[in-house]
Amino acid sequence: MTNYDYIIVGSGASGLLMAYRMSLDSFFDDATILLVDKERKTKNDRTWCFWEAHNGEWDSILTTSWNTIKFKSDIYRTKKSITPYQYKMIKSSDFYKKIWCQIEKKENITFLKEEVIGIHQNNNKANIITVNNKLEAKVVLNSVLFTNDYQQQNKYPVLQQHFVGYFIKTKYDLFEDSAATFMDFTIPQKGNTRFMYVLPYAKNEALFEYTLFSSDLLEYREYKIAIEAYLKEKKIKDYEIIEKERGSIPMTCYEFWKANSENIINIGTAGGWSKASTGFTFKNIDRNSKRLIEHMKAKKPLQTFHKKNKFWLYDLLLLDILSEKNYLGATIFGHMFKNNQPQKILKFLDEETSLLEDLQIQLKMPPYQFVRALFRRGLRRFF
Ligand SMILES: Cc1cc2nc3c(=O)[nH]c(=O)nc-3n(C[C@H](O)[C@H](O)[C@H](O)COP(=O)(O)OP(=O)(O)OC[C@H]3O[C@@H](n4cnc5c(N)ncnc54)[C@H](O)[C@@H]3O)c2cc1C
Repeated sequence: MTNYDYIIVGSGASGLLMAYRMSLDSFFDDATILLVDKERKTKNDRTWCFWEAHNGEWDSILTTSWNTIKFKSDIYRTKKSITPYQYKMIKSSDFYKKIWCQIEKKENITFLKEEVIGIHQNNNKANIITVNNKLEAKVVLNSVLFTNDYQQQNKYPVLQQHFVGYFIKTKYDLFEDSAATFMDFTIPQKGNTRFMYVLPYAKNEALFEYTLFSSDLLEYREYKIAIEAYLKEKKIKDYEIIEKERGSIPMTCYEFWKANSENIINIGTAGGWSKASTGFTFKNIDRNSKRLIEHMKAKKPLQTFHKKNKFWLYDLLLLDILSEKNYLGATIFGHMFKNNQPQKILKFLDEETSLLEDLQIQLKMPPYQFVRALFRRGLRRFF
């Protein structure tokens, strides 16, 4: 049994960011820290987008950023500045490179390339079983979903934000690279919440991502057909596909954090850090990793890290509505954008609005649906 002070399971976005922040903080200089992953990622396996006001920590590795966004639906279309926010794009390959470059400077942080089979809470320690090893740590930061418990329960609805994206390069300059299309709902909804996400990062290069908020994934060819139809409709003909990406992010208010124990804390998507109503995760990982470092330094119990807030309930109501009437997404987001400045919406999705601001936004979305969902949720507590 090999002992460590900290073991980080999974060296994706959240695991690496925790290791990075620990490597920069002298508090952890004497601690033994192990990162375990079945692979050491270097390739661009995903592209992260997020928004923040003004400059930020990741600006040196941004692929690009936009200060104008477009929104389109049958109810409302707009193209607006989001200043002081910027919508930012990072290639994961640039992120991995920057993080590893820092981590490798630290002798107390090591990497083990092995598949982890299980993690168990023991007496004042956590045990990790890998294919070839048994490891032990005072603190385990785990970013791997070992069970599908969240899919097996029926207390909270579970949707997926699922998508396929094509990075295309056109022969001629076709794109307005100063504006990102946040959501384009003017595509066939087919009874679901479906939209196209378009990120032009050069005048002849853009990411087209066909995205759904729904419970079931599609056959791969359905995403492909939808992207090709969209490109055709936009009269984009002479192009080559330079990269593709595919993903599925759980959208649920399931309380992942209830599995945190004395010596194990779940982080990233496995810790419930994906925003339930949108699937956006990168910004939460960024913020929560800073908070978790302070929490560990203050030696606070790991079980007290997660704080449930009012936004959890708002997300739950939206998911209740969309899981029952999956076609309502375009209407709900359409009203949201029609009646609110995009900056207010971004602040709301960032969970930084006051109660008064929340009400201003919510009362302008179809209120009947939300009141009904609240009422039904309330009833479920008693029956
Ligand atoms: C294609 C794609 C695009 C996305 N785009 C955005 C975006 O634009 N904005 C946004 O906010 N979010 C986005 N997300 C969601 C989210 O930000 C990412 O999924 C993010 O990588 C989640 O970080 P994580 O640490 O939870 O998981 P991951 O980054 O997936 O890390 C988990 C790690 O665990 C390892 N692992 C898994 N099983 C084992 C095992 N048994 N043993 C050892 N290691 C294991 C994996 O190899 C991986 O390195 C996207 C997701 C995908 C898939």
